[in-house]
Amino acid sequence: MQNDPHTTLITADAPVTAETHGGRTKCLQRLVRLELPVPRTVGLSFDAVHKIARGEMPDMAFLLSPFEAGELLCVRPSSEDPDWGGPSAILNIGMNDARFVDLAERLGKEAAASLYARFVHSYAVLVARLDPDVFDEIGMEGQASLSEALRAYEEETDEPFPQDPAVQLAEVLRSMARAWEGTSARLLRQAKGAPADAGLGLVVQSMALGFGAGECGSGVIQLVDGQTGLEQLTGRYLSQSQGRDALDGGSEALFLERDPRGPSLEDLAPQAFEDLIAYATLMRTKLREEMQVEFVIEDGRVHLLDGVRVARNSRAAVRIAVRLAEDGIITRQEALMRIPPSALNELLHKQVDRTRARDVAGRGVAASPGAATGRIVFSAAEAQASAARDEACILVRRETSPEDIRGMHAAKAVLTERGGMTSHAAVIGRGIGLPCVVGASEMRFQIRKKLLTGRDGRVFKEGDVITLDGTHGEILVGEVSLLEATLDDAFKTLLSWADLERDIGIRANADTPADARTAKNFLAQGIGLCRTEHMFFEDDRLTVMREMIFAENSEDRRAALERLLPVQRADFTELFMTMAGLPVCIRLLDPPLHEFLPSDHAGHRGLAEALDLPLSEVTRRVEAMGEYNPMLGMRGVRLGIAVPEIYDMQVRAIFEASINAAKSGAPIVPEIMIPLVSAKREVELVKMRIDVVAAAVRAETGADFDYKLGVMVETPRAALRAQDIAETAVFLSFGTNDLTQMTYGLSRDDAGRFMSEYVKQGVFAEDPFHTLDVDGVGELLILGARRGRAARPDLVLSMCGEHGGNPESIAFCRAAGFDYVSCSPFRVPVARLAAAQLAIFDKLG
Ligand code: PEP
Ligand code: MG
Repeated sequence: MQNDPHTTLITADAPVTAETHGGRTKCLQRLVRLELPVPRTVGLSFDAVHKIARGEMPDMAFLLSPFEAGELLCVRPSSEDPDWGGPSAILNIGMNDARFVDLAERLGKEAAASLYARFVHSYAVLVARLDPDVFDEIGMEGQASLSEALRAYEEETDEPFPQDPAVQLAEVLRSMARAWEGTSARLLRQAKGAPADAGLGLVVQSMALGFGAGECGSGVIQLVDGQTGLEQLTGRYLSQSQGRDALDGGSEALFLERDPRGPSLEDLAPQAFEDLIAYATLMRTKLREEMQVEFVIEDGRVHLLDGVRVARNSRAAVRIAVRLAEDGIITRQEALMRIPPSALNELLHKQVDRTRARDVAGRGVAASPGAATGRIVFSAAEAQASAARDEACILVRRETSPEDIRGMHAAKAVLTERGGMTSHAAVIGRGIGLPCVVGASEMRFQIRKKLLTGRDGRVFKEGDVITLDGTHGEILVGEVSLLEATLDDAFKTLLSWADLERDIGIRANADTPADARTAKNFLAQGIGLCRTEHMFFEDDRLTVMREMIFAENSEDRRAALERLLPVQRADFTELFMTMAGLPVCIRLLDPPLHEFLPSDHAGHRGLAEALDLPLSEVTRRVEAMGEYNPMLGMRGVRLGIAVPEIYDMQVRAIFEASINAAKSGAPIVPEIMIPLVSAKREVELVKMRIDVVAAAVRAETGADFDYKLGVMVETPRAALRAQDIAETAVFLSFGTNDLTQMTYGLSRDDAGRFMSEYVKQGVFAEDPFHTLDVDGVGELLILGARRGRAARPDLVLSMCGEHGGNPESIAFCRAAGFDYVSCSPFRVPVARLAAAQLAIFDKLG
């Protein structure tokens, strides 16, 4: 039988793989190879299980041939990746009236009855699909439960409980195979990343009973804590028990190791304890993984029934991978490859500061860690619209479904009325690192009326601000103080190994000193994009900025800019000091000027007061600055050429700040980037003025300094003309946000309205603002890179659009020979790991 690929006795050399028989089957074979005490087991392949679901049963006599007559069996699921789950295991198959009599003699009536009652319970609920409540009430202990369970079975089905072990086994196999093919099981595993046609293997194993004379029982052991990843012997043991009883065995369950809190297996059965530790340690070393082991002790002898990877959160996963590598069990490269980059999100999220007072509106299940504040929205479309407006939102739904995924990506957190830890919202939330609270049923959700009512009756409507604490399952009123993510040493160690492997640079997009500190904390190799416009939105500067915009002539404008200069200089000095000598790329002002002006009547009146102008004059001037299509209007370099004093002020601030930084021990060669270029002449004109300012600052200060001039390639023409442009620019950074907008002729602010429909109907495979369009936009990147380097072989190339942190964009940039990518500070660790994995993948072939 061991050579049959579909119904296989698991021996050291049986033809078994995780891809054909599932992870559990493969793991059991590994245990057999280590000569560990595993009960006799037969594995059914994915193909065999598919056939069973279609009604084609295997030869039952053949299947049962390795087992002794009358032996009790159990069946467990074996999916390719154990994380994809599977139907529940069923124990004590073969139990019937005759076996009851035999076992009652050997083990005593109560124990035999418990074995039988447990099987009847599982069979009734999982195979015959009878009402679980009926059987839960009956219980599974002793003779009274057994008689009651048999009676209930007969009453509900009008048939006696099946007595033939082969029939019992066939029905169990059939029900487990069918359960796997069911729609809800499929959706659940797909949400965990399984392909739609993922296979299920089954293992049929002889039962080590856990009941009887001498020390008998069952338990679970693991060598680490699944929450922290730290070394800690964890598990419980319960005498006269089966399966995972010990884990819900309450006060009767023993600790494994000697423990002041109560009796332990180590005291009760020292030899069995010693063997267990030796087996678990051997499994860790040889299976090269932290395993949770299910074991049974029969008259003092240990049997290992099963081993599964210790369930772990992302923080523990990182620590476990690092410890296995530090112990020499796996290589550092393997440790790096074991952590999906997106898993780092979970470690990187902000948390609510629980030392401060909080106003709790409701509670639910803490389904995905981290905390976020935002305005309430009640649909995925509204979440996308909010994101397009750059407004943080919390998506509130009764429950989520695959149609909500885009909205979930757009939201800062998700709250649902229904669901638990494995519901759609929870699984997806954890997958994408989105804080999530589910099952908040103590609150009232009126999705159509767009109302959410707290447990104390307070009503929140669309647009109200709440904070969601996904780590503790709380919905908090308003904005609350959030703590930055803390990074432990294992995380830092893993990323330091990543940095040794990767061959593409990772910088951060950072506009403020706070962003820069986060970037530095996450070991970004510099700032790849500082959007200077954000610096002007603070209140003290906005009025001066508006004065500058309203200036009638160059002289007035210069006067206003002179007041902005020290503020900008201070901003840049702080940025340079924070980055302590790492490169910083500053983009000159980009947005159209009217973005700095108020848009409503009250705002106009305030401006009129501040500037001492008649209201009508302010309104007229604001209206006159309006453009039909501002994103294609006077912005970026066009502004720099039409109103050159602004760029003059900015570059002066940059130079003076770099002199300050050098004096304070953080010398830097600032990188100045011109936005929205489409022609070489634009770059030449700006460069001429920058050189004049540089000469003036050198003359005034006597200090010498250098700078690098580069261009943001975000118009298709700039990509096409990269060869000319690179004659004047020493670096090109592809701004894929605008480049995507202009390549598709698709407004990045309005695409949310129809993007879901487009993706649903297959027009776009993905939202191109989210996932780089490698076919179209990607071709422009490659053309631009090639043409740019033709003019200047050492031209520095990078990408700084939102795509920069996506692992697939990093793969693209790496293949195209880019020097670095720049992404938001929180994505830097993910990008560092993703880049390392790409390099390792290439090295290992
Ligand atoms: C871009 O266009 O890709 C970019 C990074 O700049 P912004 O998003 O500021 O337009
Ligand atoms: Mg842009």
